[in-house]
Amino acid sequence: MALNKQIKLNNLDCDLAIVGGGIVGVTLASALKNSGLKITIIEAQPLEVAAARKQAYAFSILSSRIYQGIGVWDKIFPHVGKFKNIRLSDCDFSQVVKFETADLQTDYLGFVAQHNVVLTALQQHIADAPNINWLCPGRVSNVVYSDNSATVTVEVAGKQQQINTKLVIGADGAKSYIRSLAKITTRGWKYWQSCVAFTIKHTAPQNDIAFERFWSTGPMGVLPLPGNRCQIVWTNPHARAKTLKELDEKAFLTELQQYTGGLLGDLELVGDRVIFPVQLMQCDRYVRSRLALVGDAAHCCHPVGGQGLNLGIRDAATLAQLLIEAHNQGKDIGTISVLKGYENWRKQENLAILGFNDFLDRFFSNNWLPIVIARRLGLWLMANIKPLKMFALKLMTGLKGKTPKLADVANL
Ligand SMILES: Cc1cc2nc3c(=O)[nH]c(=O)nc-3n(C[C@H](O)[C@H](O)[C@H](O)COP(=O)(O)OP(=O)(O)OC[C@H]3O[C@@H](n4cnc5c(N)ncnc54)[C@H](O)[C@@H]3O)c2cc1C
Repeated sequence: MALNKQIKLNNLDCDLAIVGGGIVGVTLASALKNSGLKITIIEAQPLEVAAARKQAYAFSILSSRIYQGIGVWDKIFPHVGKFKNIRLSDCDFSQVVKFETADLQTDYLGFVAQHNVVLTALQQHIADAPNINWLCPGRVSNVVYSDNSATVTVEVAGKQQQINTKLVIGADGAKSYIRSLAKITTRGWKYWQSCVAFTIKHTAPQNDIAFERFWSTGPMGVLPLPGNRCQIVWTNPHARAKTLKELDEKAFLTELQQYTGGLLGDLELVGDRVIFPVQLMQCDRYVRSRLALVGDAAHCCHPVGGQGLNLGIRDAATLAQLLIEAHNQGKDIGTISVLKGYENWRKQENLAILGFNDFLDRFFSNNWLPIVIARRLGLWLMANIKPLKMFALKLMTGLKGKTPKLADVANL
């Protein structure tokens, strides 16, 4: 399939220049496929390289509904892990909070999707769209904003090309160049922890449970993948994370067995262990005239709840909805009055999730007796008080907060 479309120089000007062809940037383009808006996606890496990242994500019910609305979920669904149960537990404390599909009356409580599956499906979804062009590989090196447009300079094969656009989208990840160029300040902190992420094969027959086990060293998320495999994200203080990455495989699996409590039977490591430092970050503003930030460019959170990408997908669906409405009403999509609607909708909702994830990590990564007692009481309350349990479940599945219209589809 010809994904790397050749763009003629006089064809570069557009309504939206999306900088960053990661999952969030391409979700936005996909959601705008039939909008009539002309889009150029600028991605620094070749498309196949951008899609090849070895990472799997917990994918919320809301994200699956957004992709159903976009029309790409049928392509993704056969290849994802599916879970019908979620189990939250604190170290070896016997009280386990069990969430089941009956709680929500849905077929699943969530999914686990590999980066390459999602991004390749999205790339294919827009491959033939006449209104969407790729400039790839191309790296943005400057943006000049004026009242009525922005001019984006892109380095392509050692040459500079310029694109005039009504609106620049910063979808270029946590270290966003677009954000720093626009001098948008951020708040947040780096954690004392890193995540060791890896895939295992296991012998336990049941593979439809997502586990979040909280240890004083940090939480461990176990997410089911097809073929009796699991993606594990194991948070630890930096030095211990490094040690775990470097342990020989046998010693690593022995350690892992203790922390999974034998829940998964015999374990086999599939592929490498990768370390990610963890941070919390929120931009002071998501928009300015002619610019909007989405996904990790706008916010980053602790992976404890598996929410980061899901928030970005929700940003993209929301922004697409507001841009389509503005365009249909004949408004200029790059004006601050249009873009403020996006910031007002998403910034507070994202902050609430960032705060909740931070609270979870700090509250559980702690051995001080009063905190241990408080959190075990909290787990007991969550297990036994229905409204509290439902609140937590809706937060995890993305069903709290304002829903973008794209997700207004039949329940999965
Ligand atoms: C250990 C770990 C586990 C996680 N687990 C989960 C999970 O279970 N569920 C979940 O929802 N989230 C999870 N996350 C968060 C998730 O990984 C991120 O939120 C998500 O990948 C962000 O996507 P993005 O498209 O915004 O940015 P990115 O994936 O970073 O994409 C940015 C793109 O922009 C391109 N780019 C950058 N600069 C330029 C430039 N100047 N010009 C052109 N292109 C450029 C890059 O090449 C890249 O392709 C996890 C994160 C970590 C660290």
